[in-house]
Amino acid sequence: MADKKQNNRRNNRNNDEDFNPKFRKVRKKVCALCANKDLVLDYKNADQLKKFVNEKGKILPRRATGACAKHQRDITLAVKRARHIAILPYSAN
Ligand SMILES: [Zn+2]
Repeated sequence: MADKKQNNRRNNRNNDEDFNPKFRKVRKKVCALCANKDLVLDYKNADQLKKFVNEKGKILPRRATGACAKHQRDITLAVKRARHIAILPYSAN
C-alpha cells in the first residue's frame, strides 16, 4: 500500500511540468535601465557601454543583457554612436 502510494507520487512528479526540464522556470532578468530610472545611457560613456558588448566588441543580445525591447534599442543606438566616434571598437581581436 505504502509502496503504491510512493510510486504514484513519483509518476505525478514526472508528469508535473514544474519538474519537466522543458518547462523549467527561469528567473527572468529585470531590465537594468527600467529598474534604475537614474541610469541614463550615454554614448560618450565607454565604461557604461562595455557592459553591453562582448570581448569582441559585439552588442550582446537581449537574452544576455536582460534589457527590455525599448532599452535594447537605446543600447544598440548608443553603442553604434560610440563606435562612430571611436570610443568603442567595431571589432576587437
Ligand atoms: Zn527597459
